[in-house]
Amino acid sequence: MKGKLYKIMIPLFLLVFLVGCGSTQDTEKTDNKVDKRVSVVVSFNAMAELTKAIGGDKIELTTIVPSGVEAHDFEPKPREIASLSKASLFIYNGLGMEPWAKDMLKSIDNKNLQIIEAFKEADLIKNSGDEIGEHGEFDPHVWLSLKEAKVQANNIKEGLIKVDSNNKDYYESNYKEFSKKIDDLKAEYEKKITSLERKDLVTGHAAFAYLCRDFGLQQHSVEDVFAEGEPTSQKIKELIDLSKKIKIKTVFMEENASPKVSETIAKEVGAKVDTINTLESEGDYINTMKENLEKIYNSLT
Ligand SMILES: [Zn+2]
Repeated sequence: MKGKLYKIMIPLFLLVFLVGCGSTQDTEKTDNKVDKRVSVVVSFNAMAELTKAIGGDKIELTTIVPSGVEAHDFEPKPREIASLSKASLFIYNGLGMEPWAKDMLKSIDNKNLQIIEAFKEADLIKNSGDEIGEHGEFDPHVWLSLKEAKVQANNIKEGLIKVDSNNKDYYESNYKEFSKKIDDLKAEYEKKITSLERKDLVTGHAAFAYLCRDFGLQQHSVEDVFAEGEPTSQKIKELIDLSKKIKIKTVFMEENASPKVSETIAKEVGAKVDTINTLESEGDYINTMKENLEKIYNSLT
């Protein structure tokens, strides 16, 4: 009798054990799926776009500057930085684009947080005059160069690999794909734009120096690099005179900007007003850059 019971008990015990294992594994699988997405916080839209291109569906992304808000004037509120206390990675552009970032990072208690300043290793353009004292030595609009955006995307990729090395191959492959898209776009417009005789752009705030450097263009702007203050009447007159002299066909203004000054200049010069997107507060990276370049090309033909 004892022997018989023993024979039944062993398979029963094994069965319970196996079923137990199975269900544990299932739970672990589901948990891992949720836990595996890396929590990444970025400062503003352009950083979000570059990070999305590399991080894809392996990351959970939070952007601090809300969509549609002017990035240069932004000050984060406590609820906007709360996401940082649990994040693995914080990515920001640097060079004065996020003057609030240093204080914010000091106020966060998160020892595991890795930080990437995306401008590093990029070929920077110097600021001039008062801007150096107020904001620092360099123009922060690095992402508006197709060439330098690849450098920034590479920094972001390295940051992601640091906090999530299991998905290294995924991030590397996304980076390759994104770089290829950028290279193709650059090649297409290099051919079109560099063959044109006109080289001058009139823009809202001086955000496009890097893009202009990529394509051998010259930027003239209503507001300075950090989009501060109302332009003086002297400055507006200078822009009108210049625009007449070089026969500007289009005066660009940014999405979200007040159209008044751009419209005044355009009217005086007999040009039209068109929008151009700095990617500071909205827009998908590749599509927006393509749209910008197409509009610039059309304005110069
Ligand atoms: Zn700007």
